[in-house]
Amino acid sequence: MFEKILIANRGEIACRVIKTARRMGIKTVAVYSEADANARHVRLADEAVLIGPAAAKESYLVIDKIIAAAKQTGAQAIHPGYGFLSENEDFCHACDEAGVVFIGPPVAAIQAMGSKSEAKKIMGAAGVPLTPGYHGDDQDPELLKREADGIGYPVLIKAAAGGGGKGMRLVEKAEDFLDLLGSCKREAISSFGDDHVLIEKYITRPRHIEIQVFGDSHGNCVYLFERDCSVQRRHQKVLEEAPAPGMTPERRAAMGQAAVDAAKAVGYVGAGTVEFIANQDGSFYFMEMNTRLQVEHPVTEMITGLDLVEWQLRVASGEPLPLAQEQLQIRGHALEARIYAEDPDKGFLPSTGALLHLSPPAENLHVRVDTGVEEGDEISPHYDPMIAKLIVWDQNRDRALARMLQALAEYRVVGVSNNISFLSRLTACPAFANADLDTGLIEREKAYLFPEAKATPAEVWYVAALAELLREANRGAAKARRDEDPLSPWHARDGWRLNASAKRDLIFRLGEDQKAVNVAYRAGGYTLTVDGKSVEARGELNARGLMRVELDGMRMDATVVAANEKRHVFFHGRAWQLSNVDPLHHSGEGGGAEGGLLAPMPGKVISLIAQAGAAVEKGAPLLILEAMKMEHTIAAPAAGTVKAFRFAVGDQVGDGDELVEFEVSA
Ligand code: ADP
Ligand code: ADP
Ligand code: MG
Repeated sequence: MFEKILIANRGEIACRVIKTARRMGIKTVAVYSEADANARHVRLADEAVLIGPAAAKESYLVIDKIIAAAKQTGAQAIHPGYGFLSENEDFCHACDEAGVVFIGPPVAAIQAMGSKSEAKKIMGAAGVPLTPGYHGDDQDPELLKREADGIGYPVLIKAAAGGGGKGMRLVEKAEDFLDLLGSCKREAISSFGDDHVLIEKYITRPRHIEIQVFGDSHGNCVYLFERDCSVQRRHQKVLEEAPAPGMTPERRAAMGQAAVDAAKAVGYVGAGTVEFIANQDGSFYFMEMNTRLQVEHPVTEMITGLDLVEWQLRVASGEPLPLAQEQLQIRGHALEARIYAEDPDKGFLPSTGALLHLSPPAENLHVRVDTGVEEGDEISPHYDPMIAKLIVWDQNRDRALARMLQALAEYRVVGVSNNISFLSRLTACPAFANADLDTGLIEREKAYLFPEAKATPAEVWYVAALAELLREANRGAAKARRDEDPLSPWHARDGWRLNASAKRDLIFRLGEDQKAVNVAYRAGGYTLTVDGKSVEARGELNARGLMRVELDGMRMDATVVAANEKRHVFFHGRAWQLSNVDPLHHSGEGGGAEGGLLAPMPGKVISLIAQAGAAVEKGAPLLILEAMKMEHTIAAPAAGTVKAFRFAVGDQVGDGDELVEFEVSA
């Protein structure tokens, strides 16, 4: 076995590999770009080598630098993870030449499977069923069109070198073929440097079912059953599970055998995945083989009780496979959800920024979280926006679904948009719950998955206000502990000093909706009134924002995380983002100097509401400033005209800076 390995990757998969290596007593070397100097994988590894600037093509994709790092640290083998150089023949060659073991299949297997067209030729010859289509060398557009016409529409044009859902075009009718061929080839050239395409019959309502295979250098090859990855957006997996619902032992054996045949046909060694597209009637066709560890490998680990990275390390060091086919068994059911920094409501657009608050569910026998980030880390635009993989296991699918829903409800992320609520709806959606699976599920269930904004429960306002009050009370108590006279009435937590009637308003905004929560202090709690409806509220809040809430005697748990003026309220498995609005400045008292309105405190301009040149009424909101963890609306002090704004959105302003040039009407 190796004594030291280098991991040529970053993020969760680098951390995942380090974890197993550590358990096996193998030392680890991380490589990192300048953007990742403080990344979790660097912190976890025994050693780490800087390999260049943030851009992957100047760091994680530079073969020479990675080989040099391995030589310099004395690493005997390199684990490539997935993505980056994991399926790169040149990298594999470079490892051979440097005398470093590549933890993966032989070069020939990568080469054979690197092109979807070549792979189909080899698989066809090995008797593996193929998706009907054309995968020849002749790339004449007219010939491709004739082939497509012959297959019958709809067809799929695929870049032979494609991956990650890129370089594919669905063609519904003959007239569109040549245009879409052109755009597919352009994307293929820019993404993969190769515009060779193949044409496939587009299977309607298919399932994506893949088989995990494992080979060793002694000629053994087994399959570790299937994963169903039918739930996809933009041809990319979001929710995966094992075993596949509805799979019969006979079909499993047939698909498993086809996958082993596929692996043997290319002399496969190590972990690989044979992807099939399956019809609803159970017939299946070879789609492609991924010659590496797959993102969703944890669901296979959960149902087999095996560590696939350990198997990879054993096989790469020359050991035989630890188990034979008849020793492998499926136990229970596992699901994986990919937690992404992306906005499902904006076409799954990636989101970047600092993870201001990150609180995953606790890990145990049923819940596993594979991640490469911690609170305070950055989701940068340079790499994949995945935050974590959440994996759950239980005795059967229904119980695993319940575990997933619970774990998602406990997952709290603040700082970047994320798909956690979307994943909750996906898991709960009747089609998914009933295992009515196919690759069009997300598209088909749109109405359920992207509901119109539901009315905000009144509790959201109460909980936000209670968090604010408890935070003040905690601070008062902390100050009292520090002070000489802990009995001073100035530290009292009942609000008596705030004003004579011990009543005040806290103001919050949620989208367009702004509400005042009236607070009356009571012994041990508060009476909170919103829209004329009052509740008796009490609770506790810790420094991470975890709350125990009691509203009219009803106990519930919630989290309220404050980040600048934002208040992220989490409870009942949902999340709301409120803004804390300063009651003093929303009616115009903020400015006042002749001719201009001044910043009441240092802060940042977050929105310009009025138009420059517009005539406005007294009290009309002009702009919003974020300062002191609150949002302050700067309003017109009198009827008049907005002559000009002195700052743009995003600008920092100093105390007393003129914000708006304003002319009061005569
Ligand atoms: P990639 O290399 O990007 O993973 P694949 O060939 O594996 O490309 O296809 C990605 C996804 O596209 C599949 O999981 C499936 O959902 C869909 N797909 C691929 N081929 C077909 C087909 N012939 N008919 C219908 N859907 C397909
Ligand atoms: P300061 O900057 O004055 O030290 P912060 O506002 O940063 O205080 O708060 C300190 C801690 O309290 C942070 O961990 C933050 O998450 C938490 N916190 C702040 N405001 C709230 C709130 N309204 N509800 C819950 N937790 C809060
Ligand atoms: Mg694929």
